[in-house]
Amino acid sequence: MNVRVRYGPSPTGEPHVGNIRTALFDWLLARRFGGQFIVRIEDTDQSRAVEGAEQLILDALTWLGLDWDEGPDIGGPYAPYRQSERLPMYVDAARRLIDEGKAYRCVCSPERLDAVRKSQQKAKQPPGYDRLCRDLNCSADDPHVVRLAMPLDGETIVNDYLRGDVSFQNALLDDHVLLKRDGFPTYHLASVVDDHHMQITHVIRGEEWLSSAPRHVQTYAALGWDEPAWVHIPIIRGPDKGKLSKRHGATSIRQYAEEGFLPEALLNFLALLGWSKDESTTIMSCEEITEAFDLDGLGLSSAMFDIERLREMNARYIRDLDPADFLRRGRPHLEDRVGRPIADDELDRLLTIATAIQERVKLMPEFADYTDFFFAEGPLEYANADLMGRAYKNKPWAALESVEASLRALRSVDEAGWTTPALESALRDLAEERGEKPGAVFTPIRVAATGKRIAPPLFETLETLGQELTVERLNAAAERLARPDD
Ligand code: GLU
Repeated sequence: MNVRVRYGPSPTGEPHVGNIRTALFDWLLARRFGGQFIVRIEDTDQSRAVEGAEQLILDALTWLGLDWDEGPDIGGPYAPYRQSERLPMYVDAARRLIDEGKAYRCVCSPERLDAVRKSQQKAKQPPGYDRLCRDLNCSADDPHVVRLAMPLDGETIVNDYLRGDVSFQNALLDDHVLLKRDGFPTYHLASVVDDHHMQITHVIRGEEWLSSAPRHVQTYAALGWDEPAWVHIPIIRGPDKGKLSKRHGATSIRQYAEEGFLPEALLNFLALLGWSKDESTTIMSCEEITEAFDLDGLGLSSAMFDIERLREMNARYIRDLDPADFLRRGRPHLEDRVGRPIADDELDRLLTIATAIQERVKLMPEFADYTDFFFAEGPLEYANADLMGRAYKNKPWAALESVEASLRALRSVDEAGWTTPALESALRDLAEERGEKPGAVFTPIRVAATGKRIAPPLFETLETLGQELTVERLNAAAERLARPDD
């Protein structure tokens, strides 16, 4: 199958997950069939264009690993890839349609159009241009728009890949604008002209565009061009069936990145919003999805965006990372927390406990919660109540005794033997000797060493911290317990 697909974002702000899902389907189809994935910036509505938005869009694609074969930054055989730089092509197409009597100039003022709309509303008629200028042959010297002369009766059939033939009553479609007064094309004209010139084979887009498709079909017919395949994919909805919005979770891709979702988890999740391999497979790598992807796997049932499902998927992807890779991805979050760069060898020290942390981290910034105390300088902050735990609640002297005993036990571990098994046996023996539950003895050590009640596994943590720092922190705890009123 020959595949050339385009992703046509309008640079109006942060790319939205719904929009990027379309890009993903485009990309998957191109990669699956060895075709081309094209990024085309649809910036014909200059009033909505936002400075820097194009870069945000490209960054989002890059972050997800969706590479493009032709685009505004790299060019390609059909350059330029920004619609605002392709104006002559649209003007040419419009001029040809006027010459052939398939389009016409309309000089109606915005005030007149407004009045027409109001009287239609009053008369409960369908809204739309009343075609006043259609047969007037208006002068090109007057300010004007160009409109397509749509058929007045009959129907237009849109052959949609997922729906089959969808028919539209022409009587309900007005003569829409192709070229605006400012000389810029509308989306309706620009997308058709570009899709034709760029030899696009499949137009994949959200189903909100289905109602515009008959206009595009008529534009292709008027220009005498072959239509691409139309694939209108179901809109993404939240669990409450409402159109996806901020209340269902973040909508911008950048926010997902910042919240600590892994790109491969988000990619997997987005691919399943409207596509599936079979009834049961949910976790699939990008390669597996690419291998299995085709248009027949797309479905019409609405694509439900369940943020909980994404969170679970993310946790699963984090758990399955290679530990060294996990540390590398956690590093920026840790650096943010501790406010300084973390060197490779410092990071490598965490390998001993990486797997244990991985099991607990659901979003990458939590990595910092489980590791920041290794890099803390000066005394840690915690409450004395946490230090005493349940076993020594309100008994600082008992906690102090326990901490001092632990200190003795830990000091006597020989520095070269400062390993997880040695530490475990030393501290378990101590609890037994003292006739206490291990938890009672371990809680003050954990809080003293990490400043937290919830931390990675204790012995691995102490091993990683090293003898000197462990002893120093336990000493600080003992001092606090000796002055319980502080
Ligand atoms: N510029 C349109 C948008 O941002 C693209 C629609 C299409 O893919 O045809 O939604």
